[in-house]
Amino acid sequence: MSSHATSMPGHDRPNRRSFLKTTGILMATTALGAVPAGPVHAAALNKAQRDKMTPDDIVAAMKKGNERFRVGKESPHDYLAQQKASAKGQYPAAVILSCIDSRAPAETIMDLGIGDVFNARVAGNIANDDILGSMEFACKLAGAKVVLVMGHTACGAIKGAIDNAQLGNLTGLLTKIRPAVEATQYSGERSSKNYAFVDAVARKNVELAMADIRKRSAVLAELESAKTVKIVGSMYNLETGVVEFFG
Ligand SMILES: [Zn+2]
Repeated sequence: MSSHATSMPGHDRPNRRSFLKTTGILMATTALGAVPAGPVHAAALNKAQRDKMTPDDIVAAMKKGNERFRVGKESPHDYLAQQKASAKGQYPAAVILSCIDSRAPAETIMDLGIGDVFNARVAGNIANDDILGSMEFACKLAGAKVVLVMGHTACGAIKGAIDNAQLGNLTGLLTKIRPAVEATQYSGERSSKNYAFVDAVARKNVELAMADIRKRSAVLAELESAKTVKIVGSMYNLETGVVEFFG
């Protein structure tokens, strides 16, 4: 890919090009000067690009990606280029813990590409030991700088936990969400039929997952204390497409 794309004035810093994908247009240098030559087929993040980004840069990039998603202005992803660029090594900027819900694919709703983030998905986005181990790998060994826990509205796992649903191995998973149901302060109807309550529990569940990560992972707590890693919460709204960040 041409390096000319990074030399345009008024665009994001070159090191953030692939992750932010805000440049949009590749300028081809010709005898006539720089002219637009179609979309950038951004390759995957490389090490230098990722290492220059701060945790706050990365969160800002995810917010911008969600803004692009919800107005239908996603980057023109060239997944084949990203696949080829990342095949020999990956340098993801973040590790996400999100729900399995088919309507809440974190990479898509934040306009991310191949190689941009790790994503651990489990119903109700709870942090069990294996998820914590995955996050420790992502941050301590692979260099990710943001741990993003993402809940979402109208979550079936949250509803199941509220209802004390029983089904095979799902029962055990839902018991891990129950503490969020108990801890949610809510004066209205505490039922899975009440979406406001369901969403309040989902948010509390994200907060508890963040606390769990800090309490149960000395590795991640230490990285956060050193400001190498930032642990962030978020809620994705299925109706509006907005990812709200907090914590
Ligand atoms: Zn869910």
